[in-house]
Amino acid sequence: MATNRTFTMIKPDAVENGHIGGILNMITEAGFKIVSLKLTQLTVADAQKFYSVHSERPFFGELVEFMTRGPIVAAILEKDNAVEAFRTLIGATNPADAAEGTIRKKYAKSIGENAVHGSDSDENAAIESAFHFAGREQF
Ligand code: ATP
Ligand code: MG
Repeated sequence: MATNRTFTMIKPDAVENGHIGGILNMITEAGFKIVSLKLTQLTVADAQKFYSVHSERPFFGELVEFMTRGPIVAAILEKDNAVEAFRTLIGATNPADAAEGTIRKKYAKSIGENAVHGSDSDENAAIESAFHFAGREQF
C-alpha cells in the first residue's frame, strides 16, 4: 500500500454514543478521502491479534473486552502523509493529553475508551487494511 493511506476504526464506545457521523465529518473536513468503509465487529481472536503488541500489558484483557463488546466502523483513508496526518488528527492516546481540535479531545472519555484507532506505520496500515477489506472494496 502507498504511504498516502492509513487505516482507522471508530471504536465501540464512540459507536455506542452515536458519534459515527461526527467523527466521519471531522475526518472528511480534515481532507481525508474515504477509500473503504464498513460497520463490523471484532472477535476476541481478532482483537487479541490486532493488539498483540500489548499482550503483556496489564490492560490487555480490558482492551480486548472493550474492542469486542460492540460494532466498530473500519475504514481506509487517503491523504498525503496519511499515517502521520491521521495520528495528528486523532490526538494523544490519553484524551486528557489530546490537543484541542482533535477527535479524541472531542469524543474520547478515557485512555482505555478513546473513540478511534489510527495505524502507527505504513506497514501496519497495509496489514490492518487487508485484514478488513478485499481489493474490490478499496476505492
Ligand atoms: P490505537 O492503537 O488504538 O490507535 P494508540 O496507538 O494511541 O491507540 P497504543 O499504545 O497503541 O495507543 O494502545 C492501544 C490501545 O490500548 C489504546 O488506544 C487504548 O485503548 C489502550 N490502552 C493503552 N494504554 C492504556 C492504559 N494505560 N490503560 C488502559 N488502556 C490502554
Ligand atoms: Mg496503537
